[in-house]
Amino acid sequence: MLVDYHMHLRRPGRDSDEVDHTVEAVERYMETARARGVDEIGITEHVYYFAETGFAWSLPYQLERCTQSLERYCDAVLEAKRRGLPVKLGLEVDWVPEHAEELATVLEPYPWDFLLGSVHWIDGLAVDQRPGLWEGNTVEEVWSLYTRELEAAARSGHFDVLAHPDLVKIFGDRVEWNWQPVIDALDGVALEVSTAGLRKPVRDLYPDAELLGGARRITLASDAHLADDVGRDLDRAVELARATGFETVTVFEGRRSRQEPLG
Ligand SMILES: [Zn+2]
Ligand SMILES: [Zn+2]
Repeated sequence: MLVDYHMHLRRPGRDSDEVDHTVEAVERYMETARARGVDEIGITEHVYYFAETGFAWSLPYQLERCTQSLERYCDAVLEAKRRGLPVKLGLEVDWVPEHAEELATVLEPYPWDFLLGSVHWIDGLAVDQRPGLWEGNTVEEVWSLYTRELEAAARSGHFDVLAHPDLVKIFGDRVEWNWQPVIDALDGVALEVSTAGLRKPVRDLYPDAELLGGARRITLASDAHLADDVGRDLDRAVELARATGFETVTVFEGRRSRQEPLG
């Protein structure tokens, strides 16, 4: 089985950053998924796009986007389910330690199939945008700050999957790293094998085999921000997963997981 469990619904056009939380958008994304042999997709909008989560954000980047309705988003995906599309309702939730409990409370009433946990910002500084965390910190310091938060996110118990787990390598700045503390924190949390890094300066899959090898469960992900990227390069993700010893992929429903044969 092939899943793509990470994507953001946007209007057509490569440079479009305009959200499209409609059943028609889900259908459009599904069309590409089918064409690439993907059996099931998961829609995972960023949590900071929703007005209901506004209390958690302080950066202009987040506040500018924090206008959508969670209700409407969920309804679009649930309507797609009712129409028989193999789609799961997810969300990409930023790890914000000081608001994690409050965010979980706001999200609790919705019928999620799975929640992704992501580390994009640390103390208001971006990992995946420059200058962000990269100004005034050595590469090793950035890696250390990032992995400490990733570990805390895994331990929090709020997430089913860690998204783009070694995002910190996005610009190609690497150091030798001991991933064991993160691996020890997983305790059943799945790691996403993401092809998004292939489209970033690092030109590599997330995560590296050293980290992936410590996981017990995996999902597959494109992190598409347009329909055309759904399912892109998943064959390479499957290849890495197989080479690392995985024979199954995790499928979620109502935040419960089961294993299906990979590929
Ligand atoms: Zn992300
Ligand atoms: Zn994403």
